[in-house]
Amino acid sequence: MDMGLQNKVAVITGGSVGIGLAVAKGLAAEGSHIVLVARDAGRLEAARSEFAAGAKVKVATVACDVATAEGCAIAIAAVQKEFGGADILINNAGTGSNETIMEAPDSKWQYYWDLHVMAATRMARGLVPMMKHRGGGVILNNSSICASQPLWYEPIYNVTKAALVMLSKTMATEFIKDGIRVNAINPGFVLTPDWIKTAKQLTADSGGDWQGYIDQLAKENAPIGRFSSPEEIANFFVFLCSARASYSVGSTYFIDGGMLKTI
Ligand code: NDP
Repeated sequence: MDMGLQNKVAVITGGSVGIGLAVAKGLAAEGSHIVLVARDAGRLEAARSEFAAGAKVKVATVACDVATAEGCAIAIAAVQKEFGGADILINNAGTGSNETIMEAPDSKWQYYWDLHVMAATRMARGLVPMMKHRGGGVILNNSSICASQPLWYEPIYNVTKAALVMLSKTMATEFIKDGIRVNAINPGFVLTPDWIKTAKQLTADSGGDWQGYIDQLAKENAPIGRFSSPEEIANFFVFLCSARASYSVGSTYFIDGGMLKTI
């Protein structure tokens, strides 16, 4: 099936590991050139060298912090310089939190607002004019099932991911006149290195059965009874980026193994 992704330029924030890296690999396999954006230059380089082996596409990296206006400006300038613009923006950089509303300081709310909402806003503001110039594009905002079904220990994550879904909806309405399709994706549990690290930490004092912990969590929460792999999520991103998803605009897609408890 021709996905219409040959020679597109895709910018992926948080592209050095986990879901972002899997999306980058999926898009590269369809012939898109890739810009990976993250803070840690070493991890970016390791990710880039994974592509180097057989890749027929160009892969660029930008080390910057998208939770800041300066970091977004650096990423946008690099895209302009390397490729003259972009066709696809994946707003994926993000991370979980752990706090109570009563104890979390304002600065923590502000940080997550900047990371989950302002990064997507700033990256879009910088890249949309370039997409428009190229005749259209696609923006996907990686939110979370927590935008609709909160986990009790991370209120700041839940709230800022819910805001990202609304941002996505309003972006979709504003940008479709320029041929730019915007959608949000809400994954459930995805087994990324970060989850494995967390599971190892949580089980360190009780025998270290991190896989048992992961299995138990999945069985308790997701009817499918297991975590997703990053690739299973990435497949859906690739489809939504493709010409095959040409009527998908302003929607929020859950990929959660049945975890969402509402219709
Ligand atoms: P990882 O922790 O594995 O990767 C996060 C990526 O984001 C890394 O590349 C990291 O690189 C980058 N990043 C984090 N902060 C910044 C920043 N300020 N500026 C630039 N890059 C940044 O995450 P996942 O792959 O697990 O998650 C990716 C997205 O998917 C997140 O938004 C997450 O909320 C969402 N999600 C994940 C789920 C899961 O179960 N894994 C479930 C639902 C949603 P570096 O640290 O070098 O900057």
